[in-house]
Amino acid sequence: MRFADVIGQEDVKRMLRCSVAEGRVAHALMFSGRCGTGTLPLALAYAQYLNCTDRHDGDSCGVCPSCVQMSKLMHPDLHFVFPVNTVKGGPQKPMSDNFLPQWREEVLSTGGYFDEQMWYGQLGLDNQQGLIAKREADEVIRKLSFKAFESQYKTVVIWLPEKMGVEAANGLLKILEEPWEKTLFLLVSATPTLLLPTIVSRVQEIEVPPVYAGVLERMLVERDGMEPRKAAALARLGEGDVIEMNRMAESVDSGEAGVDFENFASLMRFSYNDRHMELLSWAENMASLGRETQKRFLRYATAMLRESYMLSAGLENISYLWGQERNFCMKFAPFVGNWNIERLVEENTSALLHISQNGNPKIVFTHYALSVSKLIGRRG
Ligand SMILES: [Zn+2]
Repeated sequence: MRFADVIGQEDVKRMLRCSVAEGRVAHALMFSGRCGTGTLPLALAYAQYLNCTDRHDGDSCGVCPSCVQMSKLMHPDLHFVFPVNTVKGGPQKPMSDNFLPQWREEVLSTGGYFDEQMWYGQLGLDNQQGLIAKREADEVIRKLSFKAFESQYKTVVIWLPEKMGVEAANGLLKILEEPWEKTLFLLVSATPTLLLPTIVSRVQEIEVPPVYAGVLERMLVERDGMEPRKAAALARLGEGDVIEMNRMAESVDSGEAGVDFENFASLMRFSYNDRHMELLSWAENMASLGRETQKRFLRYATAMLRESYMLSAGLENISYLWGQERNFCMKFAPFVGNWNIERLVEENTSALLHISQNGNPKIVFTHYALSVSKLIGRRG
């Protein structure tokens, strides 16, 4: 992967190039931020850049033997650690190396823009989480004790180090404490707050910000040939997260967004008419849907509430809704304002969190519907 393949993030790329040019290559870096901001693609592009034998124009060449192996994730000095778990027919004590083919396929088919859920889907873990076991740390030590095969640096990419248990974390800590010569650790974390402070203190953290909406919009129009108004809307609704934006685009194309819209519109109608019974059956219906669909709805509802707020604040020109959604939000806008927008968004965030943590959907959606109804009913 080259820097050119990473969407936006010019500031981070510039900083990484500078550190190489000035010979300030930290032995352990941590790219932190949501997966959809491009944390993993940045780490991979950086590893390729460092090892490229013909860097020019601020990027790796993409064609030297090192770049070719790096871009296929097949370089002998490039190692990966990521969360795994036991799968049907797989080893009893699974290691990252057992799943390298799936890993390569996931990285290459998405350009590195995938999150934890997508990865578990690729592994075929149904409702199971992955984790990083202590034996992975031992394996890293074993691999690092060999001399580098071909390149200047041996690189270990640890994706989602927050999935390590205490033992594994202590194992990794031991490695980070005594830097190995010409070895580079690239940690890619979506939730760095879950890491041991002792680990965070031993890495140089690069906080990867959301991708600029303008960059995403240009990409959708120029690369995907999307109609400009729709591109502008999706780029903004994605909130700088390429994965979320792709999900929204998919749901628009498959008609799922129509279902989300219907569900959102009925929740709001029942809410401002204070239809208690209908709200309860609405919640029951939502509870019967799959967990991913429920999460998608809650993200969609957050975006719709924010857009309605923009309209109510008279900021039509920065609201990018189109079609039926725009018509609905124009009518609905007077019900959203400074007096309730923050708490409405909080209700969505907290419902999303509870659903993600396997909370009982019936309880979550009943509480959610009634709270939203109260907030919508209350005028400023
Ligand atoms: Zn190269």
